[in-house]
Amino acid sequence: MKALVKAKSEPGLCLRDEPVPMIGPTNLLIRVKKTGICGTDIHIFRWDEWARKTVPVPMVVGHEFAGERVDLGSAVQGLACGQRVTGESHVIAMHGLA
Ligand SMILES: [Zn+2]
Repeated sequence: MKALVKAKSEPGLCLRDEPVPMIGPTNLLIRVKKTGICGTDIHIFRWDEWARKTVPVPMVVGHEFAGERVDLGSAVQGLACGQRVTGESHVIAMHGLA
């Protein structure tokens, strides 16, 4: 799969081929169809002080996306492959939300 990667501890990013991630029992595999670039990605691209202290290298970057589920872990219930999904990295658990 194509991925945007912070490969080195220096400014910039590179687009390269990466292996498709293996999923665990509680994970989903999502085929990303659209992505967004946010302020965090700009910090990582510029490799500013915050990024140098926060981001481990190498790392596949990007956390705002939309796509579809293509595989489900063995413990995942109530979801199905083919459903559309979006990533929201600021909500860490939906449990207890009305
Ligand atoms: Zn963001």
